[in-house]
Amino acid sequence: MKKIAIYGKGGIGKSTTVSNLSRALSAKGKTVMQIGCDPKADSTKSLVGGKRIPTILDTLKEKKKDTKLNDLIVVGDGGVLCLEAGGPTPGIGCAGRGIISAFEKLEELNAYDIYKPDVVIYDVLGDVVCGGFAMPLRKGYSDEVFIVTSGEMMSMYAANNIATAVKQFSNREYASLGGLILNAKNIENETKLVENLSKELKTTIIQRIPRNPIVQKAENLGKTVVEAFPEDDMSSVYMELAEKII
Ligand code: ATP
Ligand code: MG
Repeated sequence: MKKIAIYGKGGIGKSTTVSNLSRALSAKGKTVMQIGCDPKADSTKSLVGGKRIPTILDTLKEKKKDTKLNDLIVVGDGGVLCLEAGGPTPGIGCAGRGIISAFEKLEELNAYDIYKPDVVIYDVLGDVVCGGFAMPLRKGYSDEVFIVTSGEMMSMYAANNIATAVKQFSNREYASLGGLILNAKNIENETKLVENLSKELKTTIIQRIPRNPIVQKAENLGKTVVEAFPEDDMSSVYMELAEKII
């Protein structure tokens, strides 16, 4: 089982990239489990027809001790196992704590042993704002972290912060940095800028994903590009990313 976590600045394209990656991995015959760790719970939306699935925290609140593993998982396009940790009502409670509870429940219910995914992908957050959001970095949860960034200053700044957090944990049985995913915003000298960042972080750009309006076209259909437009060049890019992750 390969377990990876995807971090990156808010709005940079984590959920889009992760959902297409999951769908691409499933097209390659892998059993994939995608776990959204963002309180907005929209990570898996484009794998399940554009709607939101019930979150682990909401289901736990409702069903309490009667919660079964099936209640927490929705099977999406390509058989991708979709989960959303969820979060508290904005302004009340701690989102990080919510992630920890959701993770503990998955372990208690033996989610990983029962579904035996080949790849588990955690779609996390912009910044490691507290211990809860660092949870997916811990050994046992994920082995490798990939950071989505464009050449925009703020997204490279966030990437740098995340990489620093990963490095700080590195000698403590935590996940290591697997590389950067360049999700292009088409700014001037973008590839060069992100290459420089990758050198500074002593890592590599594992994939460049072009900016392409077909992403929105697929999104409007409630689908990933790989599902809606499998013959398009953009699908090949996500398939390439999947190959590299494997
Ligand atoms: P958040 O931090 O809020 O969870 P995110 O990092 O998960 O955001 P997404 O929701 O995946 O970001 O993407 C934000 C928007 O960018 C989406 O509307 C998506 O369609 C668009 N987008 C992402 N990648 C691309 C791309 N390569 N080409 C065109 N549009 C893209
Ligand atoms: Mg997201």
